[in-house]
Amino acid sequence: MAATASDISAQWSLVLHGGSGVIDRADLKPDQDRAYRGVLAKAAEAGAAVLRAGGAAPDAVEAAIRILEDDPLFNAGRGAVFTADGRNELDAAIMDGATLEAGAVAGVTRVKNPISAARAVMERSPHVLLIGEGADAFAAAEGLARVDPSYFFVERRWRALERQLARDGLPIPARPAGASRDETHAALAHDEGKRGTVGVVARDVRADIAAGTSTGGTTGKRWGRVGDSPLIGAGTYADNRSAAVSGTGEGEYFIRLSVARAIAALVELKGLPLQAAVDQVIQRDLTALGGQGGVIAVTPDGQMAWSFNTSGMYRARIADGEPLAVAIYKDEP
Ligand code: ASP
Repeated sequence: MAATASDISAQWSLVLHGGSGVIDRADLKPDQDRAYRGVLAKAAEAGAAVLRAGGAAPDAVEAAIRILEDDPLFNAGRGAVFTADGRNELDAAIMDGATLEAGAVAGVTRVKNPISAARAVMERSPHVLLIGEGADAFAAAEGLARVDPSYFFVERRWRALERQLARDGLPIPARPAGASRDETHAALAHDEGKRGTVGVVARDVRADIAAGTSTGGTTGKRWGRVGDSPLIGAGTYADNRSAAVSGTGEGEYFIRLSVARAIAALVELKGLPLQAAVDQVIQRDLTALGGQGGVIAVTPDGQMAWSFNTSGMYRARIADGEPLAVAIYKDEP
């Protein structure tokens, strides 16, 4: 479903997503709908506050993503989905379109905010992607907040894992040590299928752009599976010559289509307007390959766009001189 391109004279702009999937109006009770919209709005406002004050695009991206990571409603940080063996393995990436610097982590289990670990990789390591224990050790050495893995236990996600493993005919692991039975928020969360991820793209007042994505991956993932989110060019990409893009959906498809980089290339090399570029890759290419998901994007000249081929995508957009718009279902503008 396409969104309209925005006023290209905007000074700064920010678009975010909180995951795509099967999200129909009938699925969400009014209090669930309100809860999701409330957090999406809070995250968008946090990013907007950075941009309004003249802050840099990567700062806005990180600030907004941290709010979504800290909220158990989304499959990132606190609310990350479970692997088949009952763990939470988190992935995140960030890219600075002004410098083409990028940082990412995959399979981390102890960093409270994986997006900040990705940022540290970008700014304070010579590398782009760190994985597993090494990535956790790097984040700890950088002084980033660490948590016990039980911090990521959310009852609702555990039940989603049990359902997924039953469908897959796999054994259900023991509940992790220290898992709380706290149902707060669990009642508000909606199971959007196996997925749901968060991402933010921003353009600052200097017309620099950045993108970030954070996820727990897919429910019941096995064998150290990593999706598109932490892979630069697949789920996350930013280049001042074209666009900043963050994706959500079936990572295996996004990786093979280099979705984020493909959109940037259509803008840079073919001169497509942003909305046409995101629609071509999502509505045409992703759909033709049989994949599901969506993207958000911005350009240095102030275009904003989103596109998804699922029934819903949690999303919000805000720009200088434009009111905040929050949407969930396909039929919303
Ligand atoms: N793209 C993510 C992954 O494949 C999941 C999602 O966006 O829902 O890990």
